[in-house]
Amino acid sequence: MARARRPLIAGNWKMNGLRADGLALARAVAGLVKHAGWADRDILVCPPATLLSAVAEAVAGSGVAVGGQDCHASAKGAHTGDISAEMLRDAGATHVIVGHSERRTNCGETDAAVRAKAEAPWRAGLLPIVCIGETLAEREAGKTLDILASQLKGSVPAGATAARLVVAYEPVWAIGTGKTPTTAEVAAAHAHIRKVLAGLTDEAAGVRLLYGGSVKGPNAAELLAVADVDGALIGGASLLADEFLAIAKAA
Ligand code: PEP
Repeated sequence: MARARRPLIAGNWKMNGLRADGLALARAVAGLVKHAGWADRDILVCPPATLLSAVAEAVAGSGVAVGGQDCHASAKGAHTGDISAEMLRDAGATHVIVGHSERRTNCGETDAAVRAKAEAPWRAGLLPIVCIGETLAEREAGKTLDILASQLKGSVPAGATAARLVVAYEPVWAIGTGKTPTTAEVAAAHAHIRKVLAGLTDEAAGVRLLYGGSVKGPNAAELLAVADVDGALIGGASLLADEFLAIAKAA
């Protein structure tokens, strides 16, 4: 059944921030969010794993949630260098990004791998943000909607509900480039994603769909006003507290 979708503004810090910088950023974001006193939107920061528990402590009580940037599909075991969803939760996370295009490209993550990773947070009590998006070549070949459909079908596990899934549409060519699709292209992509989701869950109307890719203070209001855009996943601009907050304000 459809339900109101609460905007989610999520910052992905990627591999940026040593302790001093990360904590300063976390404290600045927490202070601004606390001051804003929003009761109608969710604000999330996803720091590097090394800073997760310190950031979780720094933002406690501010209304800012903390998430991981990736997780392993298993709860524990012989997986050198990996982090489980249970470990993220233990460090203070409530969310985790899975299937980011940088992991799909740099680490060869397939839809099947992303799907397994998206199930792990359910086991641990975290909310997965499943990322999908087409490359420039795929867009130019007119394949965008087909790619989104096949990534969704391959990456979203059975049993998804509105409360257990967030999907982020991130055109690969828009990430970190300063380029964005037109609002009509974003609307078409999000409408298509929701339609495909309807074949995967009875609660598709309630699943939050984030747009990600060069969201900045100046373009946030326009992108967040697009139908079926329920928030944003923000890379570069999430490293600047004022700009991140300007985006959150636009939600
Ligand atoms: C991202 O990496 O998820 C992202 C959207 O990056 P940026 O905002 O820098 O384009």
